[in-house]
Amino acid sequence: MKLEEYLGELYHCFHCHLCSMSNWHRLDAWVPICPSFARFCFESFLASGRIEITRAIIEKEIDKPTSRLLESIFSCTGCGACYEQCKGLTGFKANHVELFEELKAKLVELGWGPLTKHAEFSRSIRENYNPYKEPHEKRAAWLKKDVPKKAETIYFVGCTSSYRTHKIAEATVDALEIAGINFRIMHPDEWCCGSPLLRTGQRKMVKDLVRHNVDAIKASGARRVVFSCAGCYRTFKKDYPAVLGQELGFDVLHTTEYFSQLIEEGKLKLKNIVSGVITYHDPCHLGRGVGLYEPPRKLLTSMVGNKFVEMKRNRGDAWCCGAGSGVKSAFPDFAVWAALERLKEAKAIGASILSSSCPFCKHNFMDALKQAPAELKTLKIRDISELVAEGAK
Ligand code: SF4
Ligand code: SF4
Repeated sequence: MKLEEYLGELYHCFHCHLCSMSNWHRLDAWVPICPSFARFCFESFLASGRIEITRAIIEKEIDKPTSRLLESIFSCTGCGACYEQCKGLTGFKANHVELFEELKAKLVELGWGPLTKHAEFSRSIRENYNPYKEPHEKRAAWLKKDVPKKAETIYFVGCTSSYRTHKIAEATVDALEIAGINFRIMHPDEWCCGSPLLRTGQRKMVKDLVRHNVDAIKASGARRVVFSCAGCYRTFKKDYPAVLGQELGFDVLHTTEYFSQLIEEGKLKLKNIVSGVITYHDPCHLGRGVGLYEPPRKLLTSMVGNKFVEMKRNRGDAWCCGAGSGVKSAFPDFAVWAALERLKEAKAIGASILSSSCPFCKHNFMDALKQAPAELKTLKIRDISELVAEGAK
């Protein structure tokens, strides 16, 4: 839907601010839910303010953006917590995440964006097929063993696990091997999935990336692609069919779904490996983005039983790690602040392990941990793939 088509709907935002909190109906229990509003405390950093800015842009009341206006729009992590609170409760019918992505694309179209940092990773994707300015030929440098060249199952590693959190990639490979799955990785044909570009309004190059990845998968004859990255997974699942205007023709599964399936089929058996209390952080792309809440929880409880404890903000009400939609690169202090809030929440329920199922969440939590006060430093950050690989041995 084009930005202008949202105009009528924008008038239906009540400015009730329910999108700023969950448990809004209980005075003793409500908690902040929009990371940018919680951090910057101005309405222009909340969904309702961004809706008002969108209206003003469409109605040409703003002809020159200030840097503060750009900051308010691009500091939205696209977490979707606002949509989760607003939908069904108010008269506002649009999906906030889609609306704000359309808004960012409009800013880029008007020449008001991208932000410098976003343009940098876009350049790197064009030159290296990853946003981290790393050489493409080193993409699979983490892989220390031989895997088959032909297989029905592909493990799509993603840029973050390839270059920043390669323990997740190694663990995923280990778990797949233990389950006896004949799988391959795509290198050198795996390119960035395009998520960083889509989330920052930079759409020009996306179709080329999508076509390349899909053509390479189809040419390999694979029937199934599994992802340890929530961002890549959501992009393949929801954005790829929309970009191509057709179904992909192969199955797309997140590792938490696939591992759960393998357990049901008796191919993977998990033993208890955790002595302390463990909690789970729902990555926005996996939870609110695709609605995958239960498979990760089933995996964790099968390894730790009643030592699995929920944080106050979980599932649709989960607090964002703060890294998404280009926020980590353009507003690193804010991203780390949001992650620290999550670490505090995990610690407050007595967790010794904070697990997640997205390398970008882990990457940001690890950065936050480096800056955390001593009482938080004992918290361990583990991706579910790492725990599954350990529990399956
Ligand atoms: S976006 Fe929804 S919840 Fe937020 S102020 Fe508008 S109507 Fe209320
Ligand atoms: S998507 Fe997340 S950061 Fe953006 S306005 Fe909604 S709650 Fe706030």
